[in-house]
Amino acid sequence: MEYNIAVIKGDGIGPEVVDAAIEVLNEIGKKYKHNFKYEEVLAGGVAYDVYNNPLPEETLEICRNSDAVILGAVGGPKWDDLPGDKRPEAALLGLRKGLGLYANLRPAILFEALSDACPLKPEIIGEGLDICVVRELTGGIYFGDRGYKETEMGMAAYDIMIYSKQEIERIAKVAFNMAQKRSKILTSVDKANILESSRLWRKTVEEVAKDYPDVTLNHMYVDNAAMQLVRYPQQFDVIVTENMFGDILSDEASMITGSIGMLPSASLGENNKGMYEPVHGSAPDIAGQGKANPIATIMSIAMMLKYSFNLSEESENIEFAVKKALDEGHRTLDIVSKGDNALGTKEMTQVILKNI
Ligand code: NAD
Repeated sequence: MEYNIAVIKGDGIGPEVVDAAIEVLNEIGKKYKHNFKYEEVLAGGVAYDVYNNPLPEETLEICRNSDAVILGAVGGPKWDDLPGDKRPEAALLGLRKGLGLYANLRPAILFEALSDACPLKPEIIGEGLDICVVRELTGGIYFGDRGYKETEMGMAAYDIMIYSKQEIERIAKVAFNMAQKRSKILTSVDKANILESSRLWRKTVEEVAKDYPDVTLNHMYVDNAAMQLVRYPQQFDVIVTENMFGDILSDEASMITGSIGMLPSASLGENNKGMYEPVHGSAPDIAGQGKANPIATIMSIAMMLKYSFNLSEESENIEFAVKKALDEGHRTLDIVSKGDNALGTKEMTQVILKNI
């Protein structure tokens, strides 16, 4: 099979970690006889420098016509003083909107070998964690009407949280499909005791559940979910929630894993099209030094194989190779214990390649 992939290396450590992930993907291509074709396009600070625009139309067009997009990271101090629409980070919102990426998947995996990095007590985390937060990405309060108005109490500001049934249905389906591929437990998080939009959310998720009789659906209020994530995280497998709750809960869940250099993410739209990127930013403090941990980007590639290309065995091969590298004791700067030697980006990539 041939797969067309748009590659946005971006700024800072972006090019270093994307190059590492592509090496791993090429190895998978060789082993399983797939033809991965890459088209490199510019977005972020580097695109601003060339085109005076962090997301040139040509980039968006090539991404639209690809089967999937790999993104490193964008941003850095060089562009911090630009106006909002010229900042590198504007490219991220433009890509999500322009590609219709309404589902954000953020797995929070704590490998047993890295349990020291977890801020929770060993008896709480047990043998490691594997939670996936499915966050609605293009609706809710971040996209509702907003503004200012005069009230009896003086000037007031408002942001409206609005969800259509259709928006809830499509994100619920993504979450149920994912739960089916994992341990078949789905927790839907809302605030249905207070919010009307949450009541529609809950009712709609229950309707969608009828098509997935093999998945156990639980509902949880968002305040309780925030608490349960640090009290008893083992109870969760897939969590589905609206945009703002998901923003907060996915950060909380990822913190449990200890290191930002390990966390992948996927943003999906219709027809399994997706953009795959590490959760971390461009890490200007270590850019160009060959020290960055490539695992978050490599694991993002594993997600691409699973969710956009339906290549589960290939995806699991990458996850296995990463886990083995960690079990063997290999560590990059961000996850090394005091006194141990840290591998650079290239050395860690070579270790993972050997395990494919
Ligand atoms: P950051 O994630 O870039 O860095 C935070 C800390 O984590 C730094 O000390 C960095 O060295 C370390 N780190 C991050 N990734 C690492 C890796 N793979 N290996 C080892 N260490 C790693 O966050 P920040 O410093 O807040 O932001 C830097 C820039 O990145 C800003 O311009 C910000 O806007 C941008 N940013 C971009 C994205 C994105 O492109 N999706 C996301 C977050 C931040």
